[in-house]
Amino acid sequence: MSSHDEAPPLPEPLRVPVADSHTHLDMQSGTVAEALLTAESVGVTTLVQVGCDVRGSQWAAETAAAYQNVHAAVALHPNEAPRIVHGDPDGWSRQGAREPGGQAGLDAALAEIDRLAALPQVKGVGETGLDYFRTGPEGKEAQETSFRAHIEIAKRHGKALVIHDREAHADVLRILKEEGAPERTVFHCYSGDAEMAEICARAGYFMSFAGNVTFKNAQNLRDAVAVAPPELLLVETDAPFLTPAPYRGRPNAPYLIPITVRAMAAVRGIDEDAMATAVAANTARAFGY
Ligand SMILES: [Zn+2]
Ligand SMILES: [Zn+2]
Repeated sequence: MSSHDEAPPLPEPLRVPVADSHTHLDMQSGTVAEALLTAESVGVTTLVQVGCDVRGSQWAAETAAAYQNVHAAVALHPNEAPRIVHGDPDGWSRQGAREPGGQAGLDAALAEIDRLAALPQVKGVGETGLDYFRTGPEGKEAQETSFRAHIEIAKRHGKALVIHDREAHADVLRILKEEGAPERTVFHCYSGDAEMAEICARAGYFMSFAGNVTFKNAQNLRDAVAVAPPELLLVETDAPFLTPAPYRGRPNAPYLIPITVRAMAAVRGIDEDAMATAVAANTARAFGY
């Protein structure tokens, strides 16, 4: 094993416990119990497990039912909706059975997300939104249909909406406005700049920052952290992706949250306890737990 594949060491524990507002335990190595224990040992005591397809959303709901400190968010990822409509065999038929494609396939998948969204341990609908980086123009329509449907599901069940926005800021903000955003809306892995943070602030959208806020080339994210109202800041890993510096490229996991909390505190010039206290309260408010 090269050092590049090795799990980064445990950071210094936080004194004030926080939540990882967005993680994918089903894509990380080790068991859920192990991940929770390791995270807890450094003060990361609550997780939001996010589903990206039907099977992953079912798993998120099952896991949140089994562990008190895990909450679930359920959705078809913006890159998943076009895969279903266009019948890509790598789509949501991961249990072996071939699922129907086309609009009927998307409707069936959305009906299952709707069913899961009603469960008490499911606190969010997402990640949904738009991704113009991974999905080309041919997938845009399916992506938008799916996004609008998720907004409706979140509102009807009174759950938080978790937004994935990749290179699609203007269209995401426009569609939220057109549909009417749910009372609690979270931009996961916030990727805009300070100007967009001001727009989000006026709308009352939460902004969740991931490990990339520590990257050298991510001054736009640090500028956004600096101008966002403290009551709208969340922190997340999006693990196994976006491992914070200096461990970029190595596997990410919820126990690395303290690194990102410290980076955010440094940007705002406050101590880490104050930052942790704020994000802990904000995450509980955003997801209603
Ligand atoms: Zn995402
Ligand atoms: Zn994610």
